[in-house]
This record gives sequence, C-alpha cells and structure tokens, in this order.
Amino acid sequence: MVDQVIIFDTTLRDGEQSPGCSMSVPQKLRLARTLADMGVDVIEAGFAAASPHDYDAVHQIAGSITGTTICSLARCSENDIKLAARALAPAPKKRLHVFIATSPIHRKHKLGMSRKEVIERAVAGVRLAREFCEDVEFSAEDAIRTEPEYLAEVMAAVIEAGATTLNVPDTVGYTTPEEMSARIGYLNEHVPGIHQVVISAHCHDDLGMAVANSLAAVRAGARQVECTINGIGERAGNCALEEVVMALKTRADYFGCRTGIDTRKLYPASRQLAAIIGSFVPANKAVVGDNAFAHEAGIHQHGMLASRDTYEIMRPEDVGISRSKLVLGKHSGRHALADRVRELGFSVGEAELESLFERFKNLADRKRQVFDADLEALVIGEHNDAGGPWRLDHLHATSGIGESQLPSAAVAVTGPGGQTVREAATGDGPVDAAFKALARATGVEFELVGMRVHSVSEGEDAQGEAELQMRIDGVPFSGRGVDTDIISACARAFVEIINRASRQSSAVVETGKAVAANG
Ligand code: MN
Repeated sequence: MVDQVIIFDTTLRDGEQSPGCSMSVPQKLRLARTLADMGVDVIEAGFAAASPHDYDAVHQIAGSITGTTICSLARCSENDIKLAARALAPAPKKRLHVFIATSPIHRKHKLGMSRKEVIERAVAGVRLAREFCEDVEFSAEDAIRTEPEYLAEVMAAVIEAGATTLNVPDTVGYTTPEEMSARIGYLNEHVPGIHQVVISAHCHDDLGMAVANSLAAVRAGARQVECTINGIGERAGNCALEEVVMALKTRADYFGCRTGIDTRKLYPASRQLAAIIGSFVPANKAVVGDNAFAHEAGIHQHGMLASRDTYEIMRPEDVGISRSKLVLGKHSGRHALADRVRELGFSVGEAELESLFERFKNLADRKRQVFDADLEALVIGEHNDAGGPWRLDHLHATSGIGESQLPSAAVAVTGPGGQTVREAATGDGPVDAAFKALARATGVEFELVGMRVHSVSEGEDAQGEAELQMRIDGVPFSGRGVDTDIISACARAFVEIINRASRQSSAVVETGKAVAANG
C-alpha cells in the first residue's frame, strides 16, 4: 500500500518571515493560488496575530482559495487563537496551528515556565482551538532539543485535548537524519493515541540537512512534511518543497510514499516566488536550478545522446522545465500565447491575459523570437508592477568613453499621490546616474549591496534581467527588473525596491513591528 504524505507549505509564513522575503497581500494571494493549483494539501497563510498585514493575508486567502486547507499559526494564547480563528473563518477547509516551546532552553529563557505550566498552556491552547476548528495542529517548538520523555508527555496531553496533527520541529536546524528517525520512533512507541493522529516534521537547514531530516522523519512514520518553495525561511531556510517532493517521487521504491503534488508546476512556482521576492535561485540548486539538468562534460553528453537514463534520474519536463527553445513571434496570436503560458505552468485569468498579450506584442516588436524564458519574465513582471506606490514613466540615460563624457540620467516617476516627479543626476555610469536620479525623485537613501545582470534567453536581442540587493534605512531589500534595455531593467529593479521599502515602512507605521515567531 502506498501512503500519502501531506505537503504542508509554509512559504507564506516561515518563508515570508525571513529577511528580504516580505510580500504584499496581493503577492501572497497569487502565490497561494499557485500552491493550491500545484496540489499542496495545507497552506500556512500566515500568523494572524503577528500584525494586521498578516491577519489580512490569512483572511483574504481563506476567502478565495477552495479545495486546499488554509492554516494560521497562533501561540497558545486566547487572543492569538481567536484572531487566527476569525481570520480563517471564510475558508471551506481550515486548520488552526498552535505552538509553544518545550525545550529546557526555551522554557527557562524565553517563557520562564515550568514543565507543568508549559503542558497546561499547550492543553488549554489546543482545547480552545478545537472550539473553532476540527483540524488542529500542535507544534512543540524546539522539539529536537526537548527531553524525549517530556516531549512524549506533552504530545500525549495535546492528543487527549484534541490535536489532530503533531508537529516535531527542528527549530534551530540542529538534528541529523538518524536522530530525527530515532525521535519519531520514540514518540511512536511512547505516546498513547499517536496512531490516530498525523506526525509532522518541520526542519531547518542550518547544517544543510533539512530535506534529509524531513525524509528520515517520513521513513520513521511521519506523514506530513512542512516545507517552502525554494527552501526559503528563517536563517538558512526550511526544507525545500521541490526537493522533498521529487525525492519521494523519484525514490518511491525506497520511501513507498506519494504526494498529491503536480510536479510539473514546481519550476514555474519556483520562478514565480523568486520574482516576487526579487531573489534568484542558485544555478546548482537541486531540482529547479538553471544547471540542474545541464550536461556539460563531453562524456556525459555522449552518454545522454545514447540514452537519457545514463545520467538523468528525473526528466526536466517532470518538474516543468520546458525543453523547447523557440516559441512565439510577432505574428503569434492570443491563443498561442495563452496555450504556451499555461503549458509553462502559470495560471492567468482573462483580464491578465489581455494585458499580457499587449506586453507580448510590444516585446515581439523589439525582439524577433520570444522564448519561454521571455514569456516567464513577462508573466512574472506583469504581476510585480501592481504593487506601487511609485511608477517609472520615463528614463533617459547617457554613457560614453573619453574626456568630457559624464554619464547622466533623467527620470520621471509618478508618486503615491499621483504627482509626477522629474529628476536628473550624473554618476560613474548610466546605471549609477539612474539610481541617483530615482533616489532623489523618491526621497530614499540607499546602499547598493549587490547587482547582477544577465540575459533571460539567447540571441543578441535577448531581454536583460537585473537583480539588485540594497539596504534602505539599514533594511535589506531585493528587486528584479526585465527589459530589452539593461539600463531600464536596472531602473525597474530599483523602483521595485523603492516600492517594497515604502510599502513596508507604511505597514510598520500602521501596526508596530510584527512579532516574529517560529513553529
Ligand atoms: Mn520554522
């Protein structure tokens, strides 16, 4: 018999909590749709009590996604649980996820509670959650560093109180596969009633073992894995969804488990997230990296030509990477565009398709051949523009070699109140000048941390993709811009950062700093 492993995605909660990964509510909503389309079983949409922004995200996702369980995190307190329950109310399928730290370090330094007090709080939290929701997950934060016999006692008590999923988080990314397996085995043996509930793993990648530890948990009987797209999350990140899913699929012979994920949606989802948070996926990243299916060495290429099985354990098309290069040109119609975009794994509505088609025509005018990667950039870029409040309307930049050539840039932007602001600046080069002009126009002070420009596809008329890392008031931000002109691509990436920074600062003023928490 093949067991189903529940895929619990926490990209929108644990992932979003990490530096530089914050998302606006519309961006979260879009990603939630992608996750639902992909077949994720549970979407952790946020931590409703952390801030009004988080509450809003959970509430909107709960109100618009059907067919997938929507979950909110909550501490074991009345206020948190009630807020989470209210935010989740519109969801047809919902889960409350309550947590409390159980390890001696956390009990002593963070909570100042005795063993007995922690159990009482956990039980009260689960009981209250059950009043709102049949589906209640309990997490023992820092479970791995908790005394095994005490952890078993906590777990037994919360099952009794009505928890239906028990999560065993390696909050600090400390454990090893053997240890994780032993811990799950211990709980299986010592916790009364554990066979009526689902055991879950939540692993962090501080020592590079998050995926291995999650898989070890599955081998030991866990039937839920908590993970994120591209492995984003606190510090070194969480278990990567695409990796754990492909390991279970490719080695079904070994694990004997399946997931409900449509693996052809993995690559588009990875690209979509990277575009939303403006950070790139390393080329050597397992499953979704640019080089994950590249064969360079001659002997490997020879083997591949003879038979793909010689060096390929997964096919790129299984994870949604398309083999075809040439796609569309200026004479391609709306249907061809819609078909191709859907084949690439994106779901676009009629209204989105309309404006996408317009932008596609614009691009095809400037560029003979439109490749899959160009289309991807168009679809993703489309979504990102909507955030505001700043819009780049005009850019003119000059550069040159030789004396008396001073690179300069002039910009016009539309601001939050609809006003147009024009500015100009000189710089070391046209990109520098454009950044300075944009900074003046929008009133931000920035520190450039990193910049990468590369071509999206092939050919001399390929689009350029710019990825920027900057600090604004000491806070790190990333941004991404795509254009056939690389100076424009850089300017677009900077405007994205300015927008991100101004949205974030207005959110902070409104709500006070969000409480960070970890399950
Ligand atoms: Mn975590």
